[in-house]
Amino acid sequence: MSDLKSCPSVDLEEFVDNILKKYPAKVAKKRKDHILVRKEEDPARESIQANNRTVPGIITQRGCCYAGCKGVVLGPVGDMVHITHGPIGCGFYAWLTRRNLFKPGEDGKNYSTYCFSTDMQEQDIIFGGEKKLKQAIKEAWETFKPNAISVHATCPVGLIGDDVQAVAREAEAELGVKVLAFNCEGYKGVSQSAGHHIANNKLFNETVGTKDEAIPGYSVNILGEYNIGGDAWEIERILEKCGIKIAATFSGDGKYDSMTSSHMASLNLIMCYRSINYLAEMMETKYGIPWAKVNFIGVKAMSKSLRKIARFFEDPELTRRIEEVIKEEEESVEQKLAPYRERLQGKTAMLFVGGSRAHHYQDLLRDLGMEPVAAGYEFAHRDDYEGSHIAGKIKVDADSRNIEELKVEPDPEKYSPRVSPEKKKELEQESVLGHYHGMIPDMPPGTLVVDDISHLELEELIKTLKPDIILSGIKDKYVIEKFNVPSKQIHNYDYSGPFAGYKGAVNFARDIDMMINNPAWKLAVPPFEKKPLLSADLGTD
Ligand code: SF4
Repeated sequence: MSDLKSCPSVDLEEFVDNILKKYPAKVAKKRKDHILVRKEEDPARESIQANNRTVPGIITQRGCCYAGCKGVVLGPVGDMVHITHGPIGCGFYAWLTRRNLFKPGEDGKNYSTYCFSTDMQEQDIIFGGEKKLKQAIKEAWETFKPNAISVHATCPVGLIGDDVQAVAREAEAELGVKVLAFNCEGYKGVSQSAGHHIANNKLFNETVGTKDEAIPGYSVNILGEYNIGGDAWEIERILEKCGIKIAATFSGDGKYDSMTSSHMASLNLIMCYRSINYLAEMMETKYGIPWAKVNFIGVKAMSKSLRKIARFFEDPELTRRIEEVIKEEEESVEQKLAPYRERLQGKTAMLFVGGSRAHHYQDLLRDLGMEPVAAGYEFAHRDDYEGSHIAGKIKVDADSRNIEELKVEPDPEKYSPRVSPEKKKELEQESVLGHYHGMIPDMPPGTLVVDDISHLELEELIKTLKPDIILSGIKDKYVIEKFNVPSKQIHNYDYSGPFAGYKGAVNFARDIDMMINNPAWKLAVPPFEKKPLLSADLGTD
């Protein structure tokens, strides 16, 4: 197999075989299908397994269904109160850990810094927690008067059978505030991905389309943008400069009210495909809003996404304005990026994170002259790797079947196609609408794709491929740094950001340069290089 340009000479297939030999045979058989050595020039000839249960005993980075529903999709909506129904640990875990920033609207309502939990105790587990939940909803309403309330069921709630839907219905009728209850018990599905789907279903059924308010001008919704470190505000700055109005963001800096009328926008733009494609598909079927996959991470990617929007609206004046903005922003940012590029050129990176971020950030790394040599997602499905065109061909297993697939029909009154069937077909053929090409086609031959990477695999990759940086999450950040390799969290940006858009690219370059070119990495010696380590063999079957 071909060698990676900037890595030590490595036969990748032999390397992967050697990693797999460290596992018991059954585990190796399962993991083999989740690791792909890119070799075909035509990426369509290559495939990977994803969205399967993590093998017990393997250390994974994945989160639970509740984390996907409350932590990812609903949590960023700051004018709602989000109640975790469960023991306090689950609530604390999902408390602002992703740094979703929020600015209140004119009503001044902002509950994003609070952590609301029913704090279930032993007696609630034995006698049931419904009364306590109802009391918590009432107390939250009377104290804060939020624009809506959400309730998130955790594992113990599912096990004891509290009917959170009935409690929500009763509370809604009694208090007169929208109460959305999510059966997102942590054990559902194989990762946080199940929670995204559950969140999408409820938002679609009980929020989107509940208020009809016309949105004038070129209006878009942004789906799957979570305003980490202020990303959504940089995207908003650029779109507004172009003359494009953001009707609603799902859900970074999200406002409940804007979501209710989001079905009136002209176009849905999808950032994180994995966490929110369900909502986009359902909105298209019910209301006729088409979707376009965009990537606002990276200078060239940002400009390409703006041109996609221009192509959709097909208005010469809007197109002219967009081109002006691209020219001005690219020129300004290029001067700032040039010195960083000089220091980062040819450095290698690995990305193991998320359901889209490990793909999005490759564009930004390439803007800086860096090479992504290995990448993979934590909770993606095969279409995130291979492209949205294969979604219908993915085998549905028992875990996926547990998550409801809503049957959606065009709304007899509100369905209104935004473009003619002919234009839609043309834009689909150009991959402007209804298409996501996935990560694999952007990984050149000679690179590695690893789904749901384990700590063992990660350690082997670090030791052999010796990357200059790894973009990842908190669960493996310090494992990586113990190998003297810097790790940038791209779930929460390590207290930094924004990284989206043009200005964000400069922030990212600054951070990455500071990390990679910091001499401290060469000075520190990890303890396991100073003292011998205990060793053991994995059990065999
Ligand atoms: S897995 Fe269950 S108990 Fe653990 S954080 Fe998720 S909901 Fe809570």
